[in-house]
Amino acid sequence: MTPPATTEAEVVEATTLVRPKVGFVSLGCPKNLVDSEVMMGLLHHNGAELTPRAEDAEIIVINTCSFIDSAKQESVNTILEMVQHKQQNGGKAQRIVVAGCLVERYRDEIQKNIPEVDAVVGTGELEAILAAAGLTPTGHANNNSPFNILPQGTPEATIHTHAIGMVETNSEVTQLIDRAPSAVSQHSRPLADPEHDREIAPQLRIVQSLAETGTTHGDGPLHHTGNHITHTTTNPGAPEPALSLSKGPDSGTWVSITLHPSRPEGDARERSGRFSRASWDGATAALPEYLYNDATPRILTTPRASAYIKIAEGCDHPCSFCIIPQLRGKFRSRRMSSIIAEAENLIAQGIREITLIGQDTTCYGEDLGFTDGLATLLDALAVLPGLRWLRFLYTYPNKVTTRLLETMAKHDTIAKYLDVPLQHASPSVLKRMKRGGNAQIFLDLIAKARRIVPGIVIRTSFIVGFPGETEADYLELESFIKAAKIDWLGVFTYSDEEGAKAFELADELKVPNRTIQSRRRKLMKLQQKISTKSKAAWVGREIDLLVEGESEETELLWEGRTALHAPEIDGKVLINDFGPHDELVPGTFYRAEITESHDYDVVARILE
Ligand code: SF4
Repeated sequence: MTPPATTEAEVVEATTLVRPKVGFVSLGCPKNLVDSEVMMGLLHHNGAELTPRAEDAEIIVINTCSFIDSAKQESVNTILEMVQHKQQNGGKAQRIVVAGCLVERYRDEIQKNIPEVDAVVGTGELEAILAAAGLTPTGHANNNSPFNILPQGTPEATIHTHAIGMVETNSEVTQLIDRAPSAVSQHSRPLADPEHDREIAPQLRIVQSLAETGTTHGDGPLHHTGNHITHTTTNPGAPEPALSLSKGPDSGTWVSITLHPSRPEGDARERSGRFSRASWDGATAALPEYLYNDATPRILTTPRASAYIKIAEGCDHPCSFCIIPQLRGKFRSRRMSSIIAEAENLIAQGIREITLIGQDTTCYGEDLGFTDGLATLLDALAVLPGLRWLRFLYTYPNKVTTRLLETMAKHDTIAKYLDVPLQHASPSVLKRMKRGGNAQIFLDLIAKARRIVPGIVIRTSFIVGFPGETEADYLELESFIKAAKIDWLGVFTYSDEEGAKAFELADELKVPNRTIQSRRRKLMKLQQKISTKSKAAWVGREIDLLVEGESEETELLWEGRTALHAPEIDGKVLINDFGPHDELVPGTFYRAEITESHDYDVVARILE
């Protein structure tokens, strides 16, 4: 593991803050958000107070994204914006901590070029956030947590009638620092804002965390027993344990397995230099190895009934436009028992929708010796009492197996939602992207998914303007989109990333920016037509609706999601008729009917 990034002197200096107030800005994708939640959990568990107001924070943490140029720019702008709080008279900020992917890429550069930054914390050293904040696991341990953890077996109705933990958390409402919508796209999925024809970022919104959920996940870790791979209990905040044991289904024999197993593909790619950072100034050579577990404190920042679980970290794939493997390290799965224990804990605390994430969830368990590990995990999670919706994001096309689709079809709790970033449809572009596949293979996959899982919706994303993309390649992608009739679609514009293999492709292959933008616009227009038609077919359907709250656009409407909308990403269900209710309660499921459709959004009225 990479050594902590904070010097002893810095720790000593920071310990003068007895119970430091910490503010967080989380940039990038949900995977980064989970890292923020873990760091917030570690800080809170060890004595820090969390604040949503930058002007009140003594320590400001910016968890950065570094996927593409615009993401890096957004990260740097945010750091500079937060630095102003340190410089301003009257501002309380004494320390600025930069965490996340930007640190893995430009560790030394950040501190050299922005001397106001006091400490950096990479993606593989989340516990170093304690030292960066001047806390130690034993130093200021917050043994008297003000947050109310619900007892096991709390009836679902409880979360509808009062905000959990509200009474105890009035003085300490935990939110991420409020920020304007960002220009950062999540990797694997740009958010499409067709109205303004631009990509928009998913979050940087105020997140009503403890005020709504009262959850410091991990304060009361559960210990899952059974025939799954299990592990010895660890201290909160500790990484996955040193010794792991597995038990065969019909035998009582415990067999030890290695600590850091890996996939053979990952090992081969490591030998060929896929993960090397040798050419990066200021990056440490050591790759991140960290994985949180069910005993790691974590503060949820997602709206009340929903939570992400990161089931794996890192990526072994060779996609030539992507530097995530260098930033996040080799693919590694969390223990299945740890994921199940975390899910049980979340459900006990009122979570009803769980979204599994990782750079590629379909590789889950391959490093632990599972075949079809994701299907096995889904089988185990889908039957947990109290869970309403279970979904998984970020699949890799050639790893969507028949068993995985059958597992989706088998369980009512699994959302009929397949997120499969295809990136392109032209075989020559896909080959240069080092992904493989072609339009026919992808059409067959989609047809198979629709056959095995009736009613399934497909989300995908594409990159236009990849080096060497000809007009014919582009037209092939356009034809594919017409034929596939994808339900939710995002289009990225290619941007050159130093360190990615595609960066080294000849200059004459690079597509002019004007062409790239125009191709994206054309695809979004095409998708708008497809979506308008498919959403019209939703009218008249009765659906389960998870109400999220007042619409961000107008107080006259409320909004929610069906199981066919993933959090933060897809269109919305706008609610204009509360039916028999005087008011609706965010985080609650209602029965509703879709009454109108628009390009991407639909309108519903509550039935019961
Ligand atoms: S699958 Fe490809 S695009 Fe996704 S994180 Fe891995 S290398 Fe990057």
